[in-house]
Amino acid sequence: MNANLFYILSRGVADPNAIAIETPAGVRISYANLFDRVGQMANALVGFGVIPGDRVAAQVEKSIEAIVLYLATVRAGGVFLPLNSGYTPAEISYFLGDAEPRVFVCDPSKQKELTGAARQAAAKVVTLDADGRGSLMDAANTAPVAFDTVPRDCSDLAALLYTSGTTGRSKGAMLTHANLVSNAKVLREAWRYSEQDILIHALPIFHTHGLFVATNVTLFSGASMIFLPRFDVDRVVELFSRATVLMGVPTFYVRLLQHTMLNDAATSGMRLFISGSAPLLAETHREWQARTGHAILERYGMTETNMNASNPYDGERIAGTVGMPLPGTEIIITDPETGTELHSGEIGMIEVRGPNVFNGYWRMPDKTAAELRGNGFFITGDLGKFDERGYLHIVGRGKDLIITGGYNVYPKEIESEIDALPGVVESAIIGLPHGYFGEAVTAVVVPTGSPALTESDIIAPLEERLARFKLPKRVLFVDELPRNTMGKVQKNLLREQFAELYS
Ligand code: ATP
Ligand code: MG
Repeated sequence: MNANLFYILSRGVADPNAIAIETPAGVRISYANLFDRVGQMANALVGFGVIPGDRVAAQVEKSIEAIVLYLATVRAGGVFLPLNSGYTPAEISYFLGDAEPRVFVCDPSKQKELTGAARQAAAKVVTLDADGRGSLMDAANTAPVAFDTVPRDCSDLAALLYTSGTTGRSKGAMLTHANLVSNAKVLREAWRYSEQDILIHALPIFHTHGLFVATNVTLFSGASMIFLPRFDVDRVVELFSRATVLMGVPTFYVRLLQHTMLNDAATSGMRLFISGSAPLLAETHREWQARTGHAILERYGMTETNMNASNPYDGERIAGTVGMPLPGTEIIITDPETGTELHSGEIGMIEVRGPNVFNGYWRMPDKTAAELRGNGFFITGDLGKFDERGYLHIVGRGKDLIITGGYNVYPKEIESEIDALPGVVESAIIGLPHGYFGEAVTAVVVPTGSPALTESDIIAPLEERLARFKLPKRVLFVDELPRNTMGKVQKNLLREQFAELYS
């Protein structure tokens, strides 16, 4: 059987006349039309010299044409490589040099400054702007619609997706056709997706969340999505009246909660609110339920594995947890030192195995060997535990674990305590170099402003609740926490900024 993602997707669509994607500008594209455009684009790519296995890199604004480019690359047997639209020319030059794509698609406004880097990587440069115009589209628009989808095996690559770079330099995760197809189908079932669904798509499409979770699940369900160029609170609230699903990062929900029109009447037509990519505060979950009557469904995944765990559709969605392993995916907790499996309730390294797990890091054989075990388990780098009901709790990243005076301190536990204090918006617990303790537990706190807070306002209430070694030695107040485009707190930046605090 042809394992090509596009082949499986296009054969599964029940109603070709159903709307696949629409934009706020009023453009509505049916599945039949989408697939015709994909055929034209695939012909254009082949015209540019793309052969099966070639990477097609794109740093473009969010548009329907960008999705057509993704599907066309896959259909032609290529490997799609989306790049964050915020990357600088220096960053782009690293990615192009690393991935050596055959074709690089960029915004016309950036063509001049990026041509040098592309030339060095021997990539042909073509353009696509936010309105779907450019030299790529000129070629696609005059190309024939018919295109024989290139046969692919399950293990052939469909995408090379770089990680968010939260803990260091981004790594290219090699994702196969089978990785993407299996996850789309599993999520479709887990979240009860159907062709009736209308998704509010307000995420970027250079990341696993917006590209694979949101887009693939929608298309594999024959559902439709409203493609917003970016997250816009007013527009999202407006769309609640005719959409059924929202997928967001936690900051979407925090911002929506500030909207006066957010209530149960405004969201009564919505079926499902999903959150992921970063931890959702338990507080946000509770407030959302109180305001709208909906329990946000939090799930857990990453670039390398697609989605691994999800709170249940029907059962209880528990705040502060990411639910149970998805069908077909195994999750175990192991001792980070020895790799032996731990018991329920014990905190350790989260390891994942299943058809969703990637093939390895692009051109990083040592890193692949260190993190992908021979038995198929991927060592995620996240620390967590299962509770007695089988729900997975993430306590933080291994790299954020603090070892102070020989004791392990997991940031999440302390952050949750601080976040619950009056006058606190949110917090980040980091370890900073300390002559005596090795690392000193340090709190970085964003205050609401009233009441005005002092260090002891934070530390004193924790004294009754936490063991002494977990208490922050210092509390620093900041206006906001540094976040990357996916809303992830960049603790490495905080550690750099305050590195000298105890010296
Ligand atoms: P890098 O690997 O380059 O440092 P990154 O890990 O942030 O960056 P992604 O693959 O985009 O890159 O993010 C996956 C990570 O996001 C997970 O490993 C996990 O730490 C975090 N994450 C995702 N969903 C959740 C969630 N629901 N709760 C807590 N953390 C989450
Ligand atoms: Mg990661």
